Amino acid sequence: MSTGLRVLQVASEAFPLVKTGGLADVVGALPGALAREGVELRTLLPLYPAVRARLERAEPVLDLGELMGGPARLLAGEAAGLAVFLLEADHLFDRPGGPYQGPDGADWPDNARRFAALGWAARELGLGALPTWRPDIVHAHDWQAGLAPAYLELSGGPRPATVTTVHNLAFQGQFPAGLLAELRLPDSAFTIEGVEYYGAIGFLKAGLVYADRLTTVSPTYAREITTPAFGMGLDGLLRARADRLTGIVNGIDERVWDPANDPALPEPFDAERLDRREASRRALRERLGLEDGAGPLFATVTRLSWQKGCDLLLEALPRLLALGGRFAILGAGEPSLEGAFLEAARGHPGRIACRIGYDEPLSHLIQAGADAILVPSRFEPCGLTQLYALRYGAVPIVARVGGLADTVIDANDAALADGVATGIQFAPVTVEALVDALERALLLWREPERWRALQRRGMTRAVGWSARAPAYARLYRELVAARGSTERR
Ligand code: ADP
Repeated sequence: MSTGLRVLQVASEAFPLVKTGGLADVVGALPGALAREGVELRTLLPLYPAVRARLERAEPVLDLGELMGGPARLLAGEAAGLAVFLLEADHLFDRPGGPYQGPDGADWPDNARRFAALGWAARELGLGALPTWRPDIVHAHDWQAGLAPAYLELSGGPRPATVTTVHNLAFQGQFPAGLLAELRLPDSAFTIEGVEYYGAIGFLKAGLVYADRLTTVSPTYAREITTPAFGMGLDGLLRARADRLTGIVNGIDERVWDPANDPALPEPFDAERLDRREASRRALRERLGLEDGAGPLFATVTRLSWQKGCDLLLEALPRLLALGGRFAILGAGEPSLEGAFLEAARGHPGRIACRIGYDEPLSHLIQAGADAILVPSRFEPCGLTQLYALRYGAVPIVARVGGLADTVIDANDAALADGVATGIQFAPVTVEALVDALERALLLWREPERWRALQRRGMTRAVGWSARAPAYARLYRELVAARGSTERR
């Protein structure tokens, strides 16, 4: 089923090549999911050392000359099963550390140039520099790709259609106005209708202004970001473009996240063999040194940050323990939060466990072994850990915001009676409401039949990309059809 649509997605990370968060999961999964919809999606990434190490094959296809301070060229090839274009610009990307920060945790001082270069490479591909592969659509992810739609529009000639997807409005990529010329942006673009944002150059803002269509990763977040409370200063622009803005919930990679076939688990299980989940629960407790409690084993896998409500978790811990609960957290992030969780674990051995760091296999075991996954985010564009929880039979307990509101059905009396509940939601996002949710969870957990029904229902919900890809395919087709009709006019 080929529609012949070619889409170039532009991103700074893609699972499994390089990942700091949910963005990578989406970028890594979209090509496969959209192939089944007849859309050919290729991915443009910076050639970081981690990507070079995973290259299966690559050949130079385009010389980009001098780009943001050094020579650059584009390679085309395949890495970890993805069809990729890679921006080889060693002065920008060939260095140790993360995609955005050095080994010391500080942002790379040349991030403006690094990701402007990425946008520029997308422009070249978009304008047809490779006659053999010319995209109908350039799809930019987050601020790092935000200049791609801007460069394309500012080129002034015929260009492909463009989409900007916001994975998290909190990261906007703002840089000093003095860089304008160096970033190859014309003075005329430095206006409120252009890239100017509170006196600086806004990369995400540029993406939101210049792209033909905007998407974000859940319908609720799409509504929220048009309000001052969630709009992070961009709500006015998003309100003005609300008719171009769509929310499409993320899927998860059901091959990577499959409790029936997961090397990180001691024993496979699924909704029909839920009793086998106990082996994972035991393995998790043993691995983390947690005793069995009179209440559920709650867990969280997260970036440790204010957004994720980690401070609320910390405050709720005494009450969680008083309910007989146990708590495990795997995370990395703000040093003060890391210290506070480590301290809590030291103060309550056997009852609270904390692992600082990034540990993919342990994150799988936690989803498989915890009774409930806590996600008390203050805002959450989509959230993935509650989706993994659903698939792995851990009951998600989530703040009623963004994608969390869209993907978990609260176990209120009506939903329980109708047999549709999959987890617990709470609002507002406060310690009191979180503790209420823990208490509700305890009551349900004490009724094993009800609890198992919740688990089973979650496990049979469609959380994979096959359920989401049609929405992107529809958006792409509409976009190309709409441009076709304006061009003909
Ligand atoms: P965000 O992208 O805002 O951090 P998401 O819930 O969308 O939040 O995605 C987070 C992703 O990162 C999930 O795949 C989650 O399992 C993973 N993750 C977060 N922290 C860790 C960690 N310390 N170890 C392993 N995986 C983690």
